[in-house]
Amino acid sequence: MPLDGAAVDREKERQAATGAGNGAAINGNGVVVVQAHTANRLRLNPSLDHKPDRYDDLQLDFSPLLFSSLERYLPPAILISSRDSKVQYMREILLRYSPEGERTRVQKHREYRQKIISNYQPLHIELYTMHATSFFVPSFLKAINESSIESFKSIMSEVSGVFTFEMLQSRFCEMLLEEVENFEKWVHETKFIIMRPNTMNKFGAVLDDFGMENVLDKLMEDFIRPISTVFFPEVGGSTLDTHHGFVVEYGMDRDVDLGFHVDDSEVTLNVCLGKQFSGGELFFRGVRCEKHVNTESRPEESLELKHHPGRAILHRGRHRHGARATTSGQRTNLLLWCRSSVFRELRKYQKDNSSWCTECQREKKERQRQSIAATKLELLRREGEAAL
Ligand SMILES: [Zn+2]
Repeated sequence: MPLDGAAVDREKERQAATGAGNGAAINGNGVVVVQAHTANRLRLNPSLDHKPDRYDDLQLDFSPLLFSSLERYLPPAILISSRDSKVQYMREILLRYSPEGERTRVQKHREYRQKIISNYQPLHIELYTMHATSFFVPSFLKAINESSIESFKSIMSEVSGVFTFEMLQSRFCEMLLEEVENFEKWVHETKFIIMRPNTMNKFGAVLDDFGMENVLDKLMEDFIRPISTVFFPEVGGSTLDTHHGFVVEYGMDRDVDLGFHVDDSEVTLNVCLGKQFSGGELFFRGVRCEKHVNTESRPEESLELKHHPGRAILHRGRHRHGARATTSGQRTNLLLWCRSSVFRELRKYQKDNSSWCTECQREKKERQRQSIAATKLELLRREGEAAL
């Protein structure tokens, strides 16, 4: 979520200068709010000794010269990345300031998606429509069909509000991995510039852009929403209505780890698809609202989970988390960020206290304790006065 104010600008500038910024919004204590490409920023001062790339051989919607001149203003981490990453980063910024602003961005994204879908030849066409019996393991399907608190609880383990359960069949995981490899091959061969999943993951692909929007919408509506209605009602779990679906790839020649952050989602589904790897554990440190995102975590909030292919991890988007380094092999995970527009709209009017933020609840209890103590003191004083 975009942060505003001069202090944040200075913080961004500091991160840009130290190379810590990668386009994600970072708060004072280092908790990053990872987003689906909406927060890219330039530096205030150009890197004058940097020699910009040429962009005139690419099919772009802005003048190639504009990209060459903007390049010196990129944060250091982006400046040293590939030409494709730089184009993607600058394009997102330029689209925001183009005359039609948001409408243009939406329209361009629709065209971008259409261009991929009409050119990309899927490898496993059966992945593009919902075939529940060949996607999910029987225990998961049974729980969804029964759709009761008891049936969900029977397949799940829960620690500190993070739920894990067996979900995807190994054949499905294999096919999705092959499909992702097939995208990557196509992207490489056609030199098509794709948007990466979010501001923190440089490796991976947005499944929605490759024709999987409908099947993932089904996944959210018919499978994740019923579970979230039961376990995450206070963060809009019953009104999830949009999603961002993508895969991320970790390994020595990919992203290695992922810093501490919160997702731009109400509920996040994270399922490991494989293959062979070690490390890559997911760690959690308490649920926090915007105001408390950088507060300390308490020892009991500390949780670490290992990934197992096919096994899902379901958590609130505002549950602070990160991924340990994948120390060998390669790990690919499917992510579905589920959002509720109703919840987001209502949040605008309820800024004081979040029922789902541990810190808000702690502050509320503390205020109550103090007010009771003050009342007691006042009563004692009055009693004392009356006795005189
Ligand atoms: Zn709070």
